[in-house]
Amino acid sequence: MAESVPTSSRPRVLSGMRPTGKLHLGNYMGALANWVKLQEQYECYFFIADLHALTTDYADTSRITPNTLEVALDFLAAGLDPEKCTIFVQSMVKQHYELPLLLGMITPLGWLERVPSYKEMQENLASKDLTTYGFLGYPVLMAADILLYQPDFVPVGQDQQAHVELTREVARRFNQFYKLPGAENAQDVLPEPKVLLTPSPKLPGTDGRKMSKSYGNTIELTDEEPVVRQKLKTMVTDPARVRRTDAGDPDKCPVGDLHKVFSTPETMAKVYEGCRSAGIGCIECKGWAADGLVQVLQPIQARRTSFSEQQVNEILVAGSRCARVRAEQTMEQVRAAMQMNLTTAAAK
Ligand code: SF4
Repeated sequence: MAESVPTSSRPRVLSGMRPTGKLHLGNYMGALANWVKLQEQYECYFFIADLHALTTDYADTSRITPNTLEVALDFLAAGLDPEKCTIFVQSMVKQHYELPLLLGMITPLGWLERVPSYKEMQENLASKDLTTYGFLGYPVLMAADILLYQPDFVPVGQDQQAHVELTREVARRFNQFYKLPGAENAQDVLPEPKVLLTPSPKLPGTDGRKMSKSYGNTIELTDEEPVVRQKLKTMVTDPARVRRTDAGDPDKCPVGDLHKVFSTPETMAKVYEGCRSAGIGCIECKGWAADGLVQVLQPIQARRTSFSEQQVNEILVAGSRCARVRAEQTMEQVRAAMQMNLTTAAAK
């Protein structure tokens, strides 16, 4: 029998992140900053998806645990508060091993093959052999991650909506096959979560492409001021501005995109005016952008130093314990609905 979990009247939200090592500004602006706000209004579960890392890094697992700790530290540094939300590690909740297997039995292969990121990631990570059962099945793992907590909402950006849609389809199929015994008209065992579309501003990396670890163009949350300034100095700009005397356009410049996210309206006005009239140089403009970035990064870095490794471990252990209890409640219903609960039945 599952222990009870504290009940909350707030709608429940769940989201996770793969442990790719220290997080960067793209991760922060695209997800974390939003999670920090969500924890004030929702019952939130945030997890580090270390089992997902195995789908691509199975041949060398040496970085997964250290990266998990780095990501946990970044979660806390960004302002996630274990008093307000549950922070846990996927592999520390064994139900994440069980539900994907059961859902895998009912998920048609075609659903997995048509996931847009399947082919895309295979091409992007051509150096790794991703023709594995685990990699093809990662959307099932993701569906299980979500459905275990029966969340009302999953906060995602535009580009990840397909994953939540697949999760909803898997849940629907499960609910069509299985009902709790004697409860034919009762609620679905696995309620379909809704998408909570989150704003994710365009955040270019130093080479002008989307900020991403795989492009090596990131500004990390731990980068100190001199590093940030140096990285910005080499950042690409509007290609039309070849000479100092050429006019440019901040709307065509990756540095302009950074200004839109991090600078004050006053600075923005100076950038537009100065760039379009060639009244300012790019070095000066990048200095202003760096000012805005540093303002955001410094409090994050200060919070990061306030947590010891032991504290982080304790937070993850406590959060995972809480997540396990919630996940087991779902699993009890899943096993009962599938009539795969011999131990429980025999104990009656
Ligand atoms: S002045 Fe600023 S916005 Fe204009 S091209 Fe240079 S870096 Fe970009």
